[in-house]
Amino acid sequence: MTSSRLAIGLAMAAMTVPAQAQQGPDQVQARQIFAKLIEYRTSEGHGQVPAMVDYLEGVLRDGGVASDNIAKLPKGETVGMLVRVPGADLARKPVLFSAHMDVVDARPEDWKRDPYKLIEEEGYFYGRGTIDNKAGVVALMSTILRLQKAGVKPRRTLVFAFVGDEETGLDEADGTTRQIAAHPWVKGSEFAINTDAGGGIFGPDGKPIIYLVQGAEKTYATFELTATNPGGHSSRPRPDNAIYDLAKAVTRIGEYRFPVMSNDLTRAYLGAVGKVTPGPEGDALRRFAANPQDGAAADAIWGDAEFVGTTRTTCVATMLNAGHAENALPQKATATVNCRIFPGVSVDDVRQQLGKVVADPKIEVKTVGAPVASPVSELRPDIERAIAQSIRKRYPEVALSPYLESGGTDGLVYRSVGIPTWASSGVFIKPDEMFAHGLDERIPVKSFYDGVEHIHDVALTLAGN
Ligand SMILES: [Zn+2]
Repeated sequence: MTSSRLAIGLAMAAMTVPAQAQQGPDQVQARQIFAKLIEYRTSEGHGQVPAMVDYLEGVLRDGGVASDNIAKLPKGETVGMLVRVPGADLARKPVLFSAHMDVVDARPEDWKRDPYKLIEEEGYFYGRGTIDNKAGVVALMSTILRLQKAGVKPRRTLVFAFVGDEETGLDEADGTTRQIAAHPWVKGSEFAINTDAGGGIFGPDGKPIIYLVQGAEKTYATFELTATNPGGHSSRPRPDNAIYDLAKAVTRIGEYRFPVMSNDLTRAYLGAVGKVTPGPEGDALRRFAANPQDGAAADAIWGDAEFVGTTRTTCVATMLNAGHAENALPQKATATVNCRIFPGVSVDDVRQQLGKVVADPKIEVKTVGAPVASPVSELRPDIERAIAQSIRKRYPEVALSPYLESGGTDGLVYRSVGIPTWASSGVFIKPDEMFAHGLDERIPVKSFYDGVEHIHDVALTLAGN
């Protein structure tokens, strides 16, 4: 894209910014990039990531970024991109910032508004990817462009990673995240800041309650349980049956609780959340944080879908497939069991434990794919300070805590290759407004701009400037 087209784009974006908002040129540009990014249907199968990368590259080149500081990492229909801002002190290890460009698909016919158009309504930006994770892509872009414009040379090298397949390619050996982690610009980075998780929570009254920094992720692993049987005609039932065998196995898994676990990070998190949670729920969280051996507290949390994942490995049956005809005895029955494994526990230990729980040698328990386990990144005081300083500019009183993610983000790939990673988006939302992957995904307008400022602040502080 030429600079004159960029200028026209900026002018148009400026016209759509509400008059009451005080927007500088950087905010106007951030919004313009955001609007453009939402229009690319960057979900798997639509092949739109390369076009979006071409657009981003055009904006960067117009902003003065040299082409030899931009690298592209193709993978099938998608592509990752790296942008390097060389530092003055080459002896110091680089710092990595990361966002992903792909989205979970949204079907326009299911949405109230067009998911591939940025729509501002009553204080929110709507559109697929507004929160997951195109706001993060904009934050990275804006930070690079502002550094370039201000002629700031960071003390240490900053590398900005734009992942092309986070939603679908995390466990693929040649996925763009793994390519990024192995790239010479990134390899040996001292640490990474991920924009795809971490953030603030507003209470129902809109006041900030807590700010959470993701410092670890559970391992996502899926297992398949298979019962087999010689089968036969259903008019001649035999005493053993693949469906009955599998049903018993699945029931045993449903009744089993993995042992309670904790580490410094999860105790800090549950204690901090307990402090701001009222009633018996808050009480259980505080007691567990003070003493993870408190069986009654652990039992109370067991029944709490929001927090059970922070206290142990969890496994749950998610799919069943059995039989081949209504008048035949089943020859095969399979169940899919999805687990979120506590950091420090190996995938194979969980597979073996499931086998023991099932306690039926006729049932085979198999790991699906090649799950990646990642270590905990304990929150370093200098990182915590840099994040807190930025957050408290906007929310002076808010408490900060690390947390263990139950989902899965690029952070687990970086951590698994030895790059400690903390996710901090700078974005505050109400938990019941979290529609990532779902219908009517949105982000509060103020939180979008706060997130952009946050990454810029943190990049400057951590670069040593
Ligand atoms: Zn995401």
